[in-house]
Amino acid sequence: MGNTSAELLAVGSDRSPLRAREDYVKAIYQLGADGPVRAAALARYLHVSRVSVSKAKRQLEAEGLLEREREPSQPLRLSRRGRKLAVAMVRRHRLLETFFHRALRVPLDRVHAEAERIEHVISDDVAMRIAALLGRPQRDPHGHPIPYRDDLRADKPLPTLAELHAGDRVNVVSLDDRDDAAVALLAKCGLLPGARIVVERADASRVVVRRGKRMLTLRRSHAAMVRIGT
Ligand SMILES: [Zn+2]
Repeated sequence: MGNTSAELLAVGSDRSPLRAREDYVKAIYQLGADGPVRAAALARYLHVSRVSVSKAKRQLEAEGLLEREREPSQPLRLSRRGRKLAVAMVRRHRLLETFFHRALRVPLDRVHAEAERIEHVISDDVAMRIAALLGRPQRDPHGHPIPYRDDLRADKPLPTLAELHAGDRVNVVSLDDRDDAAVALLAKCGLLPGARIVVERADASRVVVRRGKRMLTLRRSHAAMVRIGT
C-alpha cells in the first residue's frame, strides 16, 4: 500500500488506511444482508461523501476486496477475500463487545463504541483466545450471532417491534447497536435479548408493550431497533 491509499481511504476523522479499509468492507458486508449495496447507501451509513465512496471503491477493487463492476452504477459486491475480511471484523467486534460486557462489566450502551475503537488492532489469534476464555459464546450482548466460520453471508435482518400489531407475543432477539442512547434506553426498560413481550397497542407514533407486569411505551424509532422472533 502506497501513501495515496491513506488519502483515498478515510472514514470520519481517522486517517488510517487499514482502519478505513476494514470499516468499508464491514459496512458493505452488513448492508449487503438487506440486498444490493448502492454507493449512496454506503455513504450515508459511513457518514462520508459520495466522492469518498467512489475513491474507496476503486481502491478496494484494486486490492481484490471488491468485485470489479463494468458499470459504475452497479451495486458493490465483496470478493471472497473481502467477505472473509468482513466476517473477521464482525467476529472481532462481537467478541470484544462480549468480553467488555461479561468480563469487564462495561455497560451495554458503551460496548459498541469501545469495540469499534480497538477491533482494528487486535489479531485474529487474540480474538479466538477471547472466544476460548468466554467459552465460545454464540451471541454478543446485543443478541447478534458471533460468526466463527469465515465465508458466512450476513443474516437477513429480522423483523422489528415497529412492524407488530396489538396482541402479538414475541421474544426480543437483538438490539441494533449503532445508537448508544437508544441501547441505554431499551436496556433500562429490560428490552434485552430473550425478553418475552406482548404488544398492547401500536399506532403511527408509538408502540406500547407489556413485559411481565410492566407497561412500556416506545417511540416508533426505538421500536424499530428491537429485532424480534417468535
Ligand atoms: Zn456493536
